[in-house]
Parts: sequence; C-alpha cells; structure tokens
Amino acid sequence: MQSNSNQTRNSDDINELMETFFKQAKTQFGSAIKSFWFYDGDLCPACSLNEIDTLKIKGKEAMSLNAFIHRESGTLIGYFLCASCAKRIFTDAQKHPYTQTALHTAIEKNLTAAYHDYLKKMKYG
Ligand SMILES: [Zn+2]
Repeated sequence: MQSNSNQTRNSDDINELMETFFKQAKTQFGSAIKSFWFYDGDLCPACSLNEIDTLKIKGKEAMSLNAFIHRESGTLIGYFLCASCAKRIFTDAQKHPYTQTALHTAIEKNLTAAYHDYLKKMKYG
C-alpha cells in the first residue's frame, strides 16, 4: 500500500527539482553522475526522529531540497530534512561555510542505507 500522508510534497515539483539538480551535477561532474534518486521516506535522514517538514524561510513556505552524490554508484540522491535539522544545517553553513558537519555524515550514512534497500527491492521485488 502506498503511503500518502504528506500532502505538502508534490511529486511533479520534486521530479522537476531533481532533474534540475541532476543537470547541474552533470555539468559539474560529467560522467561521474549516472542517475538520480529521490529519498521519499517519512523520517528525516539526519536525525531519524522527526518527520520531514516544510521550512519557513523569510515567511515563505519552502521545502529545502538537498542532494548528495553517492559516488559508488554515481547516483545523485535528493532528500528533504525535518525543520529543525534544516535550520541547524542552515545555521552551521553560515558559521562554517563549506564544512562537512556531523549532521551531513549521518545523512549520507542513512541515505546510502536507504538507497541500498531500494536497490534490493528493485532487484527482488
Ligand atoms: Zn531531522
């Protein structure tokens, strides 16, 4: 059964965003990027506690789509965060730009695991 609990996420918009990200990554990294995948789980991949939420930026409701490159497979993985993690990353980035934080390490670990699960399901149904 398909879960359809999160009405704020519009899959057409997400696909469009992912394609834009994918094109940008292709331009930057060339053939190292082969495909893209979107993490559509309900839980935030950073804290694994909160549900993914929208984040208010300057009074405007916005989903903060992020992406990282799973180098092993050349996959660009897109994801959303819960509001508190998104805020934390935003604040950290202003204090220490271009720094990989512990939160990023958790995100990449969780998303890699989720992606492997997804591949397994694709293979074995
Ligand atoms: Zn979170």
